[in-house]
Formats: sequence, C-alpha cells, structure tokens
Amino acid sequence: MGAFVGDFEPELKELRETFNSGKTREISWRKAQLQGILSILKDRENDICKALNQDLGKHHVEAYRDEIGTVTKSVNHALRNLKKWTSSKKAKMALASFPSNAKLVHEPLGVVLIISSWNFPFGLSFEPIIGAISAGNTIILKPSELAPTCSLVLAKTIRDYLDNTAIKVVEGGPYVGDRLLQHKFDKIFYTGGPRVGQIVMTAAAKNLTPVTLELGGKCPAVVDSISSSWDKKIAVKRIIWGKFGACGGQACIAIDYILTQKKFAPILVELLTKYIRKTFGDNPMQTNSIAKIINKKQFSRVKELLDEPSVKSSIVYGGSSNEENLFIEPTILLDPPLDAAIMTEEIFGPLLPIITLENIEDSINFIRARPKPLAIYGFTNNEKLQKKMICETSSGSITFNDAIIQYVADTLPFGGVGGSGFGRYHGKFSFEDFSHQKAVMFRGYLIDFGFRYPPWNNKKLQL
Ligand code: NAD
Repeated sequence: MGAFVGDFEPELKELRETFNSGKTREISWRKAQLQGILSILKDRENDICKALNQDLGKHHVEAYRDEIGTVTKSVNHALRNLKKWTSSKKAKMALASFPSNAKLVHEPLGVVLIISSWNFPFGLSFEPIIGAISAGNTIILKPSELAPTCSLVLAKTIRDYLDNTAIKVVEGGPYVGDRLLQHKFDKIFYTGGPRVGQIVMTAAAKNLTPVTLELGGKCPAVVDSISSSWDKKIAVKRIIWGKFGACGGQACIAIDYILTQKKFAPILVELLTKYIRKTFGDNPMQTNSIAKIINKKQFSRVKELLDEPSVKSSIVYGGSSNEENLFIEPTILLDPPLDAAIMTEEIFGPLLPIITLENIEDSINFIRARPKPLAIYGFTNNEKLQKKMICETSSGSITFNDAIIQYVADTLPFGGVGGSGFGRYHGKFSFEDFSHQKAVMFRGYLIDFGFRYPPWNNKKLQL
C-alpha cells in the first residue's frame, strides 16, 4: 500500500471481503502464503540484510541469524504443524449430557492489525504474520517508521510475494498508527513500548477488540558465583551475547542488569571485561559486531542514562561513545544508584549495570520489588536457587544458564506478564493467539430428563 493516502476504508473493505469469501480458511491458501514468506527470505536475503545494515548497522551474520534464520525456522515449523493445529479436537463430555459428543474448532478471528517495532523489523513483523496466516486471518501490518529501509523492504516484498487481497502493509509513524486504530479490527497485535501500548488498548476497548501487547521492561540476570572454570567461561560468553550481541542491547529480552554477590563481583567484572575485549577488540569503536543505536533521539536517551554524575562514577569498563556513528561502547557499571534512571528505566542499549547483594538469594526480593520482567535469567546450577527463582518471581519467561535463546523455541510461549505485556505467541501459541477456539456440541434426542424444564415444583428437587 506504501505511503499513507487516506483513511484506509477501501483497503479494509477489501480485507473484509477477502475474509468473508472464505479464501483464507483454505489450508492450501495458508500454505501458499507461508511458502511465500520462505521465498521472500530466500530470494531477498541481500535486500533484507542490506536494509538491516543501513537502519541498524547489523552485520550480515547477525541479520541472518536473528531475522532470516529465525523466521525461516518458524515458517517451517508452521508448515509442518498446520494440519495438526487446524484439525478439530474431540472434547470429553460429562455423563449428565449423554447422549452427546463435542469438539473444539479453531476459527480465524477476521481482519487483524499488527503493529511492529524497529529493533527486529522483519522478525517482529513476520512472526505474528505467520500466526495470523496459519489461523486463516486477513492482515494489515504497520512496521515501525524508525527502521525506514526495512519498512520499505517489508512493504515491497509482501506486495510482490503474498496475496495482497488478504495481506497489506501500511507504512508510517504514530499518525498512521493512530488513523488505523480508529477502525474496528478483530484483533490487534502490538509490539513496542508501554506508552503506545496504552493507546492501542484504549482504542481497542472502544470496539472490545482483543489485543496482544508485546512490551518490554528490565530483564535481570542473576549471576551466582559459578565455581567450575569451564561453566564460568561459557556463562560470561552468554552474558556478553545476551547484552550486546543482539541489536547492541536494543532487544526486549536483552539482559538489562546483573544481580550478583558482593564477593563475586570483582571476579565477574574481570571476566566480563576480558571477554568484551576478546569479542569486540581493544578498540570497540571499530567493531562491526555491535549494532548501532537506532537514531539520535535514542542515542541521547542512552547517553543521558550514563552521563548522570553518580552513574558515571560507577563505570568500571567502557563509557565512550561517538554520536556521528550512533555508537556507544559496551559499558559495565558497578553499583550505580538504584534510584538513578539507569536502574528504573529500561536501558535498551549497551550499558550493563551490576548490582551487588550480600547473598544471591536476596536477588529474589530485589526482582519482586520491581515490575514483572519479560524475561529473567539465572546463571546458576544451584537447584535450590533455580527452584526459588521459578516459584517466587513472576516474569514472561525464565531461562537458566543462557539468555535470549528462549525466543527461538517454537514449543515455548513468548510474551510478558504484568507490565511486560500479555498474550503469547510463537509456534502453536501464535496460531492460538490469532484464533478463536469454538465449542461445538452435538446432542441426541434419545434420553431427556424432565426435571430440567419448568414448571417448577418441589418434587423436582428430590430427583
Ligand atoms: P514504540 O511504542 O515507540 O513504537 C512501536 C510501534 O508503535 C511503531 O510501529 C510505532 O510507529 C507505533 N506507534 C507509535 N505511536 C503510535 C500511536 N500513537 N498509535 C499507533 N501506533 C503508534 O516502541 P519502540 O520504540 O518501537 O520499541 C521499543 C519498546 O518496545 C521497548 O520497550 C521494547 O522492550 C519493546 N519491544 C518489545 C518486544 C517484545 O517482543 N515484547 C520486541 C521489541 C521491542
């Protein structure tokens, strides 16, 4: 659809007509669209990676891993499981309703709106699209204007490879998003920050439209004083990757900060510093392995978090930046004040505060005293601590001894809780998120109990 031209009435009318025609309910149609996404990823790999480099400074390998590879895996998973997902499921019925049988039937919701974010522009658009197609909906996608090259590639490739009577892309920013939200959809799937999440939910409430909100927040990593040197080496590698390795820390499930024991902190800082140098070189300004900050506004925001004097004095590694290249060096901070913005706001950039505690178990109360995170990470083999973390904290997900990796597990739901959002997707959960599970019941006339019908009399109570 390209640039915003009007109020979207004709486009939405077409999507509604296509939905009503029943075309998108055909399994063959759903498969063809999923195959179309595979073709986009295969044929247009270079365009996609170039766009990701231009907008976000992502290296081709990172772009392939996080967007092409991950989405290809998800499409293949959907194609393999579509028949199973869409087949009706028999439901057991109580004896009281004999004779009867029943089933659960998944039906598509209708015309759905997907609003996505800029940090993984292809993944965060295609993942929900896969679910919406698998479930048989028609779709309008609004990518983020903050990654404009990626937005354009999405618009062009979707136009060229998918059925445009059923799947459309609308490019633009808040104004366009706001205009879209004036319309009635059958589902809105939103990825982004909580402020716009509230706008989306308010607009959806007017039409009682169901929403999924994929938001963010501060994801803590609890790092126990790991004893084996092998485990320590791998853990440190994974922490560095979980902070700086995916879009330079601009990921909703990136490690936001570390909680560790006071006595282990000096060892951890030394290990992290050593490995940052090994990965990004002595002059990280020259690395091609960290994505840039998306724009000047975000650059200033992250810099401000760092430039607060009480925070600046807690830097133990890094701290330099280059506004021209929108680059901030991987930076480690030890015990910045807990009331500073760096510890109260989502960082969404390559700054890694380490907060020290007397005992590692204190991390549980630390996390519980703050909004529910999208993800919690625990680097520990201590089963007692693992159990405590699972039972006594609340988060979208909890992962032990790694970070971010849970995102690619098709069998795990992805989504938040509390302030980190609600609704869940990926794999079968995406299909369900864009479906309605309809209860279907068949009754026979063989037996009929008279006590269920009026007129009432006390004799009926004795039956
Ligand atoms: P954002 O909320 O500024 O924008 C998200 C989308 O909403 C964009 O497409 C934008 O154009 C649109 N939008 C903005 N104003 C709008 C309006 N008034 N009406 C309708 N649409 C509007 O968020 P962002 O800066 O793109 O993303 C950063 C946040 O998103 C972080 O908090 C991050 O944690 C979160 N995030 C979450 C996930 C997840 O999967 N849970 C993934 C990526 C990012």
